[in-house]
Amino acid sequence: MNSNIQLIFEKGTGINLQNYVPEMDIDEINLDKILPKAFQRIDLPIPNIPEVEIVRHFINLSNRNYGVDTGIYPLGSCTMKYNPKINEHIVRLPNFAQIHPLQEENDGCLELLYHLSKLLGEITGMDGFTLQPAAGAHGELVGLLIMKKYFETKRIKKQKLIVPDSAHGTNPASARMAGFSIIEIQSNKNGEVPLDQLEFAMDEGDVAGIMLTNPNTLGVFDRQIKEITRIVHEKEGLCYYDGANLNPMLGICRPRDMGFDIVHLNLHKTFSTPHGGGGPGSGPIGVVNELIPFLPEPCLISTKHGIICQENKENSIGRIKAFWGNFGVLVKAYAYILALGAEGLKKVGQIASLNANYLRVLLQKNYSVPYNRICQHEFVLSDRGIPNEVTTEDIAKRILDYGIYAPTIYFPLVVPGALMIEPTETESKQSLDYFVKIMNKIFEEANNNPEILKNAPYNTPVKRLDAVQAARNPILHD
Ligand SMILES: *Cc1c(COP(=O)(O)O)cnc(C)c1O
Repeated sequence: MNSNIQLIFEKGTGINLQNYVPEMDIDEINLDKILPKAFQRIDLPIPNIPEVEIVRHFINLSNRNYGVDTGIYPLGSCTMKYNPKINEHIVRLPNFAQIHPLQEENDGCLELLYHLSKLLGEITGMDGFTLQPAAGAHGELVGLLIMKKYFETKRIKKQKLIVPDSAHGTNPASARMAGFSIIEIQSNKNGEVPLDQLEFAMDEGDVAGIMLTNPNTLGVFDRQIKEITRIVHEKEGLCYYDGANLNPMLGICRPRDMGFDIVHLNLHKTFSTPHGGGGPGSGPIGVVNELIPFLPEPCLISTKHGIICQENKENSIGRIKAFWGNFGVLVKAYAYILALGAEGLKKVGQIASLNANYLRVLLQKNYSVPYNRICQHEFVLSDRGIPNEVTTEDIAKRILDYGIYAPTIYFPLVVPGALMIEPTETESKQSLDYFVKIMNKIFEEANNNPEILKNAPYNTPVKRLDAVQAARNPILHD
């Protein structure tokens, strides 16, 4: 703060904000030379409000916010887990926060990126990584462009991609953006890919491969995964692994060992950056040796002169992001992996699955679980059998009244009235038990007092929105 600030206490109004505006500390400029008089502002109406009012205004706004620091956030497919605060501190250290990608001396930042690639290689089993994609969906696009370029350089025409119906919504969207047309395969009653249909689809001839999430969006692990990747490889296809939800796999199972050729990770779900709120994110891509020449540039390589940056590779798909990606997210992932170590990461995987199964078993007393088998990090309930025509939306709105966040609803589409729950490894048993208690209470309300659910929520700053009106008559500006 500027030492020239004069604090003047006005009678009855507390401290006056205007007195906080510091004196100008640059030389007087001749404004008329820069800007014609007609465009100059005569006065600046800064509100004359006591400091305390401002503080209360922003604190009240912040109190309306809900986040994982406030309570459980069981948003399936999004891994809203608690991220250690120490990593936020680390990423703000001046040598990380104030570095510029064009500066000559990089204080070991390129080494950090190189080592992080190696660690992610260890975790997934892949041979080479790019850290540049800025989000999961961006990684998907990059991975699929690599797939496309691979077939182009081999002069093999491949235009279709298999995407099962249990895939994340971004998968078919990215496939289309990369120029593939999509063959959708319906999952079987176990939530797995039916092998006969896969073989049939691969026989179409110009199929580039498959894009798969395992565990899929039903939270179940496809036990025939090695068969799936074998079938695709046998027909000269490539296997893409959507690793956005790697949490339950950490230290337990590696995409490479399942037979995958390309994988993307969401560092902003699994590795210590919050997911949501608009970013920044990071969706690194890992590939097998054969695909390394196609990775975007620049690439980092290790030489006897240290880590250097390599450009203009013949077969690279080119640039996909300025500089090295979202560096801060990468630093946090690096710190997180080093702090936990191999054993710690494995524990993350185990507890993520244990917590989800704990909830699944307790909730099935009152709620229907359509794919009811041991799950990984998440599972899906449906509103089938909830009395008095109470819907998934009613349940989700009522959960808010009890001060916690609702699960993902109406997704995945393969489950009608879906409630997709992912507790993550960072929730304690007490917090899981509280969630079960609320869910059971809501079930009782559905039985005895359904009206209360139809109009919920009551305790939130914004009450139930009229979704139909909002869609029909949107007000897009003030
Ligand atoms: C979140 C997620 C994505 C997309 O990641 P974004 O960073 O939001 O683009 C893709 N696939 C799965 C399975 C996901 O959960």
